[in-house]
Amino acid sequence: MATESRVALVTGGIGGIGTAICQRLAQTGHRVVACYYPPEKDLAEAWQAARAAEGLDIPIIGADVSSFEDSARMIGEVKGQYGPVEILVNCAGITRDKTFKRMDEGSWAAVISTNLNSAFNVTRPIWDDMLERGFGRIINISSVNGQRGQFGQTNYSAAKAGLHGFTMALAQEGAAKGITVNTISPGYVETAMTAAMRDDVREAIIATVPMRRMAKPEEIAAVVGFLAADDAAYITGANIPINGGLFIH
Ligand code: NAD
Repeated sequence: MATESRVALVTGGIGGIGTAICQRLAQTGHRVVACYYPPEKDLAEAWQAARAAEGLDIPIIGADVSSFEDSARMIGEVKGQYGPVEILVNCAGITRDKTFKRMDEGSWAAVISTNLNSAFNVTRPIWDDMLERGFGRIINISSVNGQRGQFGQTNYSAAKAGLHGFTMALAQEGAAKGITVNTISPGYVETAMTAAMRDDVREAIIATVPMRRMAKPEEIAAVVGFLAADDAAYITGANIPINGGLFIH
């Protein structure tokens, strides 16, 4: 079954994994819009120019996905310019790692609102259009640490586990309406975030991965491309691990 050209929105679109997802969906022929965090406007413009140099025309739009109002405004603008969003990738995320003894309310709230509330904030304004059109692909980027828990990440693990709860419940509401909702749970991925780790810390992490390497962002994007395709219509409510064997269950 050929995949039609769709309007796709990627939050965290200019980040390490988001960039590979935007490239993949654009190369597949979709009209991709990359959502960036408003304080990163300059970075986003440079990112857009870099994509143009690759031959990819990817519009950018700023929104703070931890705010329902700002997310709804952004979705309205995307719809006005390109039409209703048919493929949504919730990829924006942050970490504020601390042991629970040091965990403060601000670090807890920031991670929950950016990684979990954002899924509600961005998906809710899109949902009615997906129901009406009888088509939708929603892909939530979680983490292996939402599946197994991670020392120093009570906030992040809770948010990422919650994200898959959201996926499972919404998948049931979309199932009879042509809308699939799935989670992808990457292990460690080669991005600026993991490159910034101390060498010994990075090496220690890699030693715990049965494949003895991190994922390339393109390996996450490939699965997004697969789930977004028309012929992935029968997969919903799944949590797909991409972790090199780090967590098998
Ligand atoms: P990244 O920091 O490169 O990208 C995240 C993007 O989200 C950034 O561009 C950031 O500006 C944006 N963002 C943050 N807060 C925002 C807000 N309030 N509103 C709008 N945008 C906001 O990180 P990444 O490694 O590309 O991670 C992408 C996703 O994958 C995240 O959800 C992350 O939790 C998840 N993940 C990453 C790894 C990894 O090893 N890198 C592993 C598992 C899961």
